[in-house]
Amino acid sequence: VDPEILPEERDFESALRPRSLSEFGGQPRVRDQLGLVLDAARHRGSSPDHVLLSGPPGLGKTTLAMIIAVELGVALRISSGPAITHAGDLAAILSGLSEGDVLFIDEIHRLARPAEELLYLAMEDFRVDVVVGKGPGATAIPIELPPFTLVGATTRAGLLPGPLRDRFGFTAQLDFYEDADLARIVHTSAAKLGVTIHARAADEIASRSRGTPRIANRLLRRVRDFAQVKKHPVVDLDVACAALEMYEVDQLGLDRLDRGVLDALCRLFGGGPVGLSTLALSVGEETETVSEVAEPFLIREGLMMRTPRGRVATHAGWSHLGLRPPAGVAP
Ligand code: ATP
Repeated sequence: VDPEILPEERDFESALRPRSLSEFGGQPRVRDQLGLVLDAARHRGSSPDHVLLSGPPGLGKTTLAMIIAVELGVALRISSGPAITHAGDLAAILSGLSEGDVLFIDEIHRLARPAEELLYLAMEDFRVDVVVGKGPGATAIPIELPPFTLVGATTRAGLLPGPLRDRFGFTAQLDFYEDADLARIVHTSAAKLGVTIHARAADEIASRSRGTPRIANRLLRRVRDFAQVKKHPVVDLDVACAALEMYEVDQLGLDRLDRGVLDALCRLFGGGPVGLSTLALSVGEETETVSEVAEPFLIREGLMMRTPRGRVATHAGWSHLGLRPPAGVAP
């Protein structure tokens, strides 16, 4: 249940993407604010302010960028921070834009420095200076750009330099979804996939999806596969639970890796504190996998803590494994 996209999911994800703001479930605050920004731009007949979307993977940043372009009835160009290695790459993209286009730059915090500086001028003055020649003879040739809207997405807003952040007129911080919103997304996706699903089954999938639509859709797909192979025409609660059990996704949404880490922390190290590298070794994983894939969710769920002395299991962590916490672990 890694929230990052898996390579084989691209087609599946695009088939399930909502195409309009009204179809976009959850995030009511962001939806309302963005709706207003788009309405105002439509009234003025001009491009809206540049938009920064920040939040963890799989919460709908790419989807919102696509919706912005659809709602404005303009073309969408897509690129990403790591794909733009030189300022020239970005200059080429910008000079190919038409009036009103939306340019989506995913992982914008990973833009190379020279490209980032070029972007400042483009965002503010709709202009780029292309440098021709080298050394003392080099000259900057200004190129006017048509007005466009930049939509930047980042999972690490804190890494964005201030001058770049300040040039976005509207910033939306996406939060993890409520279970009820995820359940609605599961219903919509099930309908698109032609799967008949009971409300309690959708609720169950939602509650194991870590607040993340990408994971909800992924679990739905696994449940659908299970139902098809086992010849269940309808996904009810029993079918959903049996499928999720088979894929080792537990009631809280922990998968095999998360449980392995928590289990090692409690059973092998008495609940900690234990260092990250020792913990990772004990479950046979790289330290990055443990710290970036398993730990964020375990910490978010209050099952473990990072302390200066190492990782520590909480009372809830012990209880989740059905173990009695040692005396001294406060509930
Ligand atoms: P990343 O940071 O990895 O690029 P992201 O935030 O851009 O992720 P998306 O690619 O937009 O996430 O969404 C992942 C999947 O979740 C898509 O298939 C999309 O259909 C679905 N999804 C996301 N948000 C919603 C939503 N509010 N309603 C319905 N489906 C959604």
